[in-house]
Amino acid sequence: MAAPLPTRDSVTTIRDDGSRPFLYPSDTHGRFTLARQASAGLLIVFYLSLPWIHVGGYPAVFLDIAERRFHLFGLTLAAQDMWLLFFVITGLGFSLFFITALLGRVWCGWACPHTVFLDQVYRRLERWIDGDAVQRRALAEAPLSALKGLKRIVKHGLFFLVSATIAHLFLAYFVSLPEVWAMMRAAPVENWSAFAFMAVFTGVLYFNFAWFREQLCIVICPYGRLQSALIDDHSLVIGYDARRGEPRLTAAEDKKRLAAHLASGQPAATLPRAGDCVACHRCVHVCPTGIDIRQGLQMECVGCTACIDACDDVMTRLHRPRGLVRYDSQNAFAGRATRWLRPRTALYGVLLLVGASVATWALSTFRPANLGITRIGGAPYIVSDDYIRNQFFVRLVNKQNQPVQFVLSLEGAPAGLRQSGLQGPVVVPALGEVVQPLVLQQPRPDYHGPFALSVRIQDLANRFHLNRPIEFLGPDVKLLREEEEDRREHREPRH
Ligand code: SF4
Ligand code: SF4
Repeated sequence: MAAPLPTRDSVTTIRDDGSRPFLYPSDTHGRFTLARQASAGLLIVFYLSLPWIHVGGYPAVFLDIAERRFHLFGLTLAAQDMWLLFFVITGLGFSLFFITALLGRVWCGWACPHTVFLDQVYRRLERWIDGDAVQRRALAEAPLSALKGLKRIVKHGLFFLVSATIAHLFLAYFVSLPEVWAMMRAAPVENWSAFAFMAVFTGVLYFNFAWFREQLCIVICPYGRLQSALIDDHSLVIGYDARRGEPRLTAAEDKKRLAAHLASGQPAATLPRAGDCVACHRCVHVCPTGIDIRQGLQMECVGCTACIDACDDVMTRLHRPRGLVRYDSQNAFAGRATRWLRPRTALYGVLLLVGASVATWALSTFRPANLGITRIGGAPYIVSDDYIRNQFFVRLVNKQNQPVQFVLSLEGAPAGLRQSGLQGPVVVPALGEVVQPLVLQQPRPDYHGPFALSVRIQDLANRFHLNRPIEFLGPDVKLLREEEEDRREHREPRH
């Protein structure tokens, strides 16, 4: 029977007086460390290259706030298409719910930009300049010397440089790279707001990655707090197999225990076997949030896998099977079965499917142009001696990155209806709009009451069209005919 594990009710990196011990996590080597390095390398390239890669004439991701347009991998969304983002955001939210219920904090450990940049950029630089964990701690505790001062200047100079680079590339997501480059060459007074944003954002990044680090995950990140609500005992987490590891004993303690057993006159074979954990604390020393995974699942665990590699390394040296610390469900660690399909994964899965279906439908209805038709203010119709007239404004919005020629036609119009305005092809500039009047006139004899028709625009290249229903309004036919009758009668005596 495994010994009961110690419990914890405080955060390792926040002391009772509110101060924070700075951590010096040891390095790890192993299959997960390698896999995370590879995936982080790809992610860093992905995050930083998006403003450089052009799709359809614009950066792959360009959130052009000034022009109120979002360019996403060749798709341009104008302000009136922002409702589509609702589906994108809720879809991402449901995906995260679903993945978390199944795989726990896999996002935090493998893909979160904070973890990726901290582990693979800032900590690497720190290791390169200050040395391994023991050397880093020794340097921090050493009195100020010329070497320490130099190392601090180089390290923080590089941290600042990297933070400024990330901040500039982040800004490029909103104003494009050429614009960022132009701002960088201009005096700060010419772009005060952008300059202030850059300065503040660089400062925030520097503060976070140079000092705040794991506190962001523990104290600020809302997703970390949501974990406990999203996962259950069947979710995949990184944990310690207490049934296999306990009772944990160091080599010296194990020797002492054997000696006492033999001294009591019992044969060595009757000594109950100790657990596989040799209490080396290697899993604790590598943890970037300073926790002891052997105390069970904790909110601070960001799923970085460092403790798995650390413990696997120890087990390999002891010729014991790997996996004392591993990915598994809490049920599996307790010797119970793990169920992948359960009410919460089914619910999150259904929500994800509904979200994905609606998003697919919404995107399939997306058109690279908008057609708006509004009735010109004043009287809804005008009655002249010969015609009934309706007047509209037609607004054509081109969401594409090149000019488009549109042709307007009327569908379902009765015989005799005359159209003035927008009779030939209309050129709408790239990402521009054109507003023109459209006048429809129905000769009095052909007018038999209000009717519905449809305005259609078609691009000359014949790739898409848009239809908008409108209503042609006019007076009551009976009254119109009576009025005509009256006019005729009043005219006849004059002949
Ligand atoms: S407990 Fe393990 S997986 Fe969790 S943060 Fe610490 S080292 Fe990473
Ligand atoms: S690394 Fe493994 S053996 Fe060492 S203390 Fe942690 S769980 Fe025990």
